[in-house]
Order: sequence, then structure tokens, then C-alpha cells
Amino acid sequence: MSAPTSLFEPTEAVTTDTEVSAADRIAEVQSRINLACRASGRDAAGVALVAVSKTFGADAITSLLAAGQKRFGENRVQEAAEKWPALRAGWAGIELHLVGQLQSNKAAEAVALFDVIHSVDRASLVAALARAMAATDRRPRLLVQVNIGDEPQKGGCSLGEMPALIASARSAGLDICGLMAVPPADRDPAPFFALLQKLAHEQGLPEISMGMSGDFPIAVQLGATMIRVGSALFGGRS
Ligand SMILES: *Cc1c(COP(=O)(O)O)cnc(C)c1O
Repeated sequence: MSAPTSLFEPTEAVTTDTEVSAADRIAEVQSRINLACRASGRDAAGVALVAVSKTFGADAITSLLAAGQKRFGENRVQEAAEKWPALRAGWAGIELHLVGQLQSNKAAEAVALFDVIHSVDRASLVAALARAMAATDRRPRLLVQVNIGDEPQKGGCSLGEMPALIASARSAGLDICGLMAVPPADRDPAPFFALLQKLAHEQGLPEISMGMSGDFPIAVQLGATMIRVGSALFGGRS
């Protein structure tokens, strides 16, 4: 990059540089997705990369948008409500995913904001989402989150509760399209990914949301159709 020669050049030069590195990070993640697909005989078109932008501001998100990324994930309704309406106004085709726990009293706000909700985990939330959707024409796609490692501090329904929860969603008129899980942090994630894939298959659900920055290639090899990648695209969170 050449030295700026006038007051008006630096902004443009800096913006371009940021876009190149965002594009590089996306390309790097995508090439690892492609490799994992090749290793497991999958079509890379069947893996949706969700860029998890929690804690990151409009500038960092805009760099990824400018590099062509359209799917983003947030873990808190309030933070998403502060960031995304303005970004959506400026960029076409954004698909916004909620990947964190959802309180029932925020169901209507979540239905208004998100295109995909990964964290349906209890009957009371199913009821709140059904009410919220009945009041609008918005129909976000829904995944049931499973507490795959049976950890007390984690969100998600238990393995035992999952079939009844899916049935209750269906009888409330909600279509559940898949399962989501976050394996225990300190264990080999592969057996948990394999279990989630088996459960989704048994339930006849096409979408499997699993894999983060540290483990997405394994998740892809084990059948992930949505991977949720934050730090590998945005850098570390403070
Ligand atoms: C933060 C978060 C991610 C992304 O984590 P990274 O390790 O930064 O890729 C994925 N899924 C959920 C549910 C998250 O909260």
C-alpha cells in the first residue's frame, strides 16, 4: 500500500485493506470447509457458513458484508436489536441467525429480527414463538437445541426431552427444520457431533447446526449443514 498523499485518501485505503483481510479470512474458512467436504464425500454447497458477530461492531461486520458474507449469527436479542436494523437497511440479502438462548418474553422481538432461531429448547418457548408468529407474517426457521453433553450450565433440552419437544412444536404449527448443539468444551467433539447427526437423521430433520472456530472441519465431516464461526472470521473476542 502506498503512502497517503492527501487528506482524502487514507480512509479509502484503510477500508480497502480491511476488506481484503476479511475476504482472506472468509476464503481461508471456506477452503477448510471444502477440504472437509472432499474428505467426507460431501458437496460444500450443503454447508452454510454463519459468521457469529456477537461483541463485534458495525465496522467489523461491514468488512465481512463487503467481502460477500451474508449469513450472520448473534447470541443475544438485545445486542442484535441494537446492531442489525441499520445494517439491514444498508445491505440486501442478510440472513440473521439467533444462536444463543432465548427468553420467552423476547420471543416476539426475536421473531421480528431473526431469520433462523437455533435455540428452541423448551415447551414454554415453543408456545411463545407460536403466539409471536401468529401475530405477524414472519416465519423464522427453527432448530431445537440439544444439551448434547448433558451439562448443567448449558442451554438446550435433554436428549430424552427432544422428541416430545419436536412433537409439541409440530402440534403448535411450528416446523422444526433441524437440531443444534455445542459439545462440552474440554472433550473431543467428534462423538457429540456424530450423536447429533444420528439424532437429526432419526427425527427426519435436514439441518444440523454444529461446529465453531475450533472444530468446524470435524463437524463438517460429521454432517453439519450450518456451522457457526466467530473468532476465525472476526478475530478474538475480548
Ligand atoms: C460464540 C458462539 C459461536 C462462535 O464461537 P467461535 O469459537 O468464536 O467460533 C458459535 N456458537 C455459539 C452458540 C456461540 O455462542
